[in-house]
Amino acid sequence: MATTRDLTETAPPATDETITCQGERFRLYLTDEAIQSRLQEIGTAISEEYEGRTPILVSVLNGAFMVTADLMRYITIDCEIDFMKLSSYGDEKVSSGNVTELKRIDANLQGRDVIVIEDIVDTGLSMQFILKKMQAHNPASLRTVTLLHKPTSNDTDVTLDYVGFDIPDLFVIGYGLDYGQIARNLPHIYILDEE
Ligand code: 5GP
Repeated sequence: MATTRDLTETAPPATDETITCQGERFRLYLTDEAIQSRLQEIGTAISEEYEGRTPILVSVLNGAFMVTADLMRYITIDCEIDFMKLSSYGDEKVSSGNVTELKRIDANLQGRDVIVIEDIVDTGLSMQFILKKMQAHNPASLRTVTLLHKPTSNDTDVTLDYVGFDIPDLFVIGYGLDYGQIARNLPHIYILDEE
């Protein structure tokens, strides 16, 4: 999988602080502060690169609602927003590999500068599915943002334009990311403790 912008940062090692979710132990991994600082950098880059244009952000529900709300506030040029919703992992930690669309985009994307916002790219199947849907609208341009990226797990060949953090191939929760629909409200991101 290609990343076209030199914005990727490898996330720091997990801390010793742990929480339990669905009976499993997770380590504090990315603090709200680290996330915000990275989103600010990406928001600034987008504002500069899209100067004079009005991009439309396409947020992928449910997981990306939080990153979208924060990133949008770091974008200082005019921008619009719309939402699509894909099937999720369900209650499992591993993707079923089947992606289905639960809510379609409402906006007319023809001739628009579209920026897709994801919380995490794992196998890349969801992003591949989304990009195919977006291309069908004939946008003027199409770029992708993901807060997290698991580079060792990619099966697909999609281009990620703005990547918050490269992370190991381990399950993460918090900051919009769920485990069986809970944990989305945690302000920080936690990573599964393998020990
Ligand atoms: P992909 O299609 O790239 O395999 O997976 C993308 C979607 O799977 C994400 O939008 C997210 O909903 C879910 N996902 C992938 N990895 C994780 C993870 O580590 N934690 C959580 N909570 N969801 C994940």
